[in-house]
Amino acid sequence: MNQLAIHGGSPVRTAPFPTWPIFGEEEERLILEVVRSGKWGGSNRNKLPELEAQFAAIHGAKHAVTVVNGTIGLTIALQACGVQSGDEVIMPPYTFIATASCALLFGAIPVFVDVEPNSMLLDPELVEAAITPKTKAIIAVHIAGAPANMTRLKEIADKHGLRLIEDAAQGVGAVWDGQPVGALGDFGSFSFQSGKNVTSGEGGILLTNDEALADMAWSLTNVGRIRKGAWYQHEHIGWNLRMTEFQAAILLAQLTRYEEQQRLRDRNAKWLAAEVGTIEGLRTMKLDSRVTNHAHHMFMFALEEGAAGGIGKEEFIRRMNTEGIPVHPGYITLNQNAAVLKEIEKWTGERRETSCPVSEKFAEREGLWLHQNVLLGDEQAMSDIMTALRKVMQGN
Ligand SMILES: *Cc1c(COP(=O)(O)O)cnc(C)c1O
Repeated sequence: MNQLAIHGGSPVRTAPFPTWPIFGEEEERLILEVVRSGKWGGSNRNKLPELEAQFAAIHGAKHAVTVVNGTIGLTIALQACGVQSGDEVIMPPYTFIATASCALLFGAIPVFVDVEPNSMLLDPELVEAAITPKTKAIIAVHIAGAPANMTRLKEIADKHGLRLIEDAAQGVGAVWDGQPVGALGDFGSFSFQSGKNVTSGEGGILLTNDEALADMAWSLTNVGRIRKGAWYQHEHIGWNLRMTEFQAAILLAQLTRYEEQQRLRDRNAKWLAAEVGTIEGLRTMKLDSRVTNHAHHMFMFALEEGAAGGIGKEEFIRRMNTEGIPVHPGYITLNQNAAVLKEIEKWTGERRETSCPVSEKFAEREGLWLHQNVLLGDEQAMSDIMTALRKVMQGN
């Protein structure tokens, strides 16, 4: 009766989880407005300034610059901060590859510093030991939507004269110690790629409270022009990295849905965390009490080594997936990513092996994800997740 689906039993769930993106009349109305206006982008900006103002306001930031995507947003943030080829950038290894490739695009060198075991967020207490005369910046990643310890990271950055950039690709609406993420350091970079909690298929935005940095980011994104300069006046080498009006229209519509979706993700994530916490062999994230608001891009949890009869992470995921629950294995730790290591070697002439045991263990053997769309499921969906987890942990 309670036989595992992989052994021929019936799966816990056959109904699908909510698909993503979610859209409706508001997206259609605004996109049609853009089409009919004939003003689609470039210097024709109607929806883009509205989006920039709204997104900055949500995060309590003074300035916003829209860009083509989150990867380029991070690259522009580094460059606007004066980071150059050969400079070192401290970052956590448990993140999407773009956190590293944004630096490697122009020869800045990622230096991986391990994450905290309870949160998978950059461990501030390990940062100082990694600082060298070449270090120019720290990238804090709000992984899964949980804000990193910006208080401590800012102290360290200030003490050593380093720039602090938030990779907030997963952190729309996250709040650290009462303050929204995005402008807590020099720049915050957000992504609107198709899987993100607010999406226009592709896109990105930079936030900052520093006007000079905002102007520089704008210039680099607008072929080196300056805001009040002439059309063919290029003061810097920059590129056309602009977002279109179509994307801004979709994002303005998406933002009308954001708060309600976030409330649902929050309710479900809290319920799941409490329930998962009761199962021996599974572990949930334990976040700092200063995490005021979690953006819930993912629900992360861990299968402890040896649990579930020692079947291991891969088999555990296969069993959960066969029960109808889309559990995902998550990242490969970047300090062991062959492409990243090869690119670092290309720029430095050195093979730089770093050890990040917490990230390595979570990535290889323990870490499990449920994506944000799963967190938009109803009560039955959440209860199915728990039924399947209990069933798979029990075996048979
Ligand atoms: C999605 C993501 C990025 C990159 O954003 P794109 O818009 O896909 O370029 C960077 N960092 C993290 C942590 C991400 O999740």
